[in-house]
Amino acid sequence: MSVLVYTENWDGKFKKLSFELVSYATGVAKMIGASVTAVSIGRVEETELKKLGNYGAAKIITVNNDGLNVLDNQAYASVISEAALKEHATIIIISNNNSGKAIAPRLSVRLKAGVGSGVSRLPISLNPFTVYKRTYSGNAFAHLVIKSDVKILTLAQNSFDLAETPGNTCTIENLSVAVDGSVIKTSVRDVQKQTGKILLTDADVVVSGGRGMKSPDNWGPLTELASLLGAATACSRPVSDEGWRPHEEHTGQTGKIIAPNLYIAVGISGATQHLAGISSSKYIVAINTDKDAPIFEAAQYGIVGDAMKILPKLVEAVKDLKK
Ligand SMILES: Cc1cc2nc3c(=O)[nH]c(=O)nc-3n(C[C@H](O)[C@H](O)[C@H](O)COP(=O)(O)OP(=O)(O)OC[C@H]3O[C@@H](n4cnc5c(N)ncnc54)[C@H](O)[C@@H]3O)c2cc1C
Repeated sequence: MSVLVYTENWDGKFKKLSFELVSYATGVAKMIGASVTAVSIGRVEETELKKLGNYGAAKIITVNNDGLNVLDNQAYASVISEAALKEHATIIIISNNNSGKAIAPRLSVRLKAGVGSGVSRLPISLNPFTVYKRTYSGNAFAHLVIKSDVKILTLAQNSFDLAETPGNTCTIENLSVAVDGSVIKTSVRDVQKQTGKILLTDADVVVSGGRGMKSPDNWGPLTELASLLGAATACSRPVSDEGWRPHEEHTGQTGKIIAPNLYIAVGISGATQHLAGISSSKYIVAINTDKDAPIFEAAQYGIVGDAMKILPKLVEAVKDLKK
C-alpha cells in the first residue's frame, strides 16, 4: 500500500510545490501506515530525483517517454493512473494548480476515485476519511468526507510546510508507459516556455498592482521594486482584462491562487474575488489612497497614500538597504 504523489518539474528541476506535496504525502502516509511513492514525468537527473527522498519519498518512479514532452494532461493522467495501479495506491496527491485541476478529474474517472480538491491540512479523520478545505473564496471551510476506496487529494499551494526527513533513503525505478493516440486526443503544435522570470506560484515575495495604478505606463517603479526584492509581479483581474499586464499575472478566484510570504498590493481595493487568490499569504502589505479600502482588513501592514509617490520612495529605500 502506498500514498502516490505526482511531482512537477520545470526543465528538469523540481518546483517548490513538489517538495510540499511530498512533505504532505509523508504526513498522510504516517497516518495510514503506508509508504510514499513519488511519480516524476520528463527528463530529471538522478541527483534531482533524489531530492524527493529528503522529504520522505521511499520510491521514485520516473517516466520519460518522448510522447510525454507535450505537456498534455491527458497523457499525464494516464501515466499517473498506471503508476497508481502498479503501486496499489489508495491515496493520490497532486497540486491544486491548473495542471492538477486538469489531471484530478481525469484520474478520478480512470480510478473511480473521489476527489478532495484544494485541501490545506492533513486529513481530520481516517474513518470516515475526512479532509479540510477552504471554500466560498476562503470565506468558509468545509469538512469533506470521501467514501471511495481510492482517494485523490489536490493540495492548495503553499498551505503545507516543507518537512525534511533526515536519514530517509529512496529507490528510483523507471516506468515505461505507452502514450499513443489511444491516450492523447489532441495535438500540441507549439510550446513556448518562459525564461528568466520568477514563477508567480513559486515566488516568496509578490508585488501586485491594481486599477489604482491608473495606466500600463505607470508600472515601471512597481516592476523595479519587484526586481530589487527578487519578487514576482502580479495584478488584479481588471488590470489583465484591460491588457495592462499579461493574463498569467492575474490572481484571485478566477486567476492564480498564491500564498507567498509577502504580498504587496498596490492600488488594489481588496474585492472578495481578489482576496480569494491571495488571502493565504503570510504577510500582506497594502498601499492605497482610500483608508477604508477592504484590502486593509486583510493586510497586516498598510500605507495610506498615492502609489505614484510611494513606490519610487520604496524603490530608493530598498536600494539604500542593499548598499
Ligand atoms: C465572478 C467574478 C470573478 C472575479 N475574479 C476576480 C479575480 O480572480 N481577481 C480579481 O482581482 N478580481 C476578480 N473579480 C473582480 C473583482 O470583483 C474586483 O472588481 C477587482 O478585484 C477590482 O480590481 P482592483 O482592486 O484592481 O480595482 P478597483 O476595485 O477599481 O480598486 C482600485 C483601488 O485603487 C485605489 N487607488 C486609486 N488610485 C490610487 C493611487 N494613486 N494610489 C494607490 N491606490 C489607489 C482605490 O482606492 C481602490 O481601492 C471578479 C469578479 C467577478 C464578478
